Amino acid sequence: MVHQWTLLDTLFVAIIVFCLICGVVAAVIGHRKNLSVGQSFALGALLGPQGVASVVRDKPGLPRAPSGMRTIRCPCCNAVQTIGETQAEYQCSQCKTENAVQDSQ
Ligand SMILES: [Zn+2]
Repeated sequence: MVHQWTLLDTLFVAIIVFCLICGVVAAVIGHRKNLSVGQSFALGALLGPQGVASVVRDKPGLPRAPSGMRTIRCPCCNAVQTIGETQAEYQCSQCKTENAVQDSQ
């Protein structure tokens, strides 16, 4: 028996393709903003344009640091810099403030 290609099938495929496109768009935007690519994709794929919009609205994340390093944002001047992973304090490269590293950062 040959499967009849119904309007419902077309609609189903169209919805899946639409979700995938939204997921890819959200993932690309998320990647550019240093956000989690997988999470951005899921947002776009599950929520469609709403998910893409929420990735667009999301604050950019910190750039990924090389291994053994961590990326940190200076609380005084907002300058992003890379320091050693075990460093407890650092001097900001821009405003020269001595900062203690908070684990929440
Ligand atoms: Zn600073």
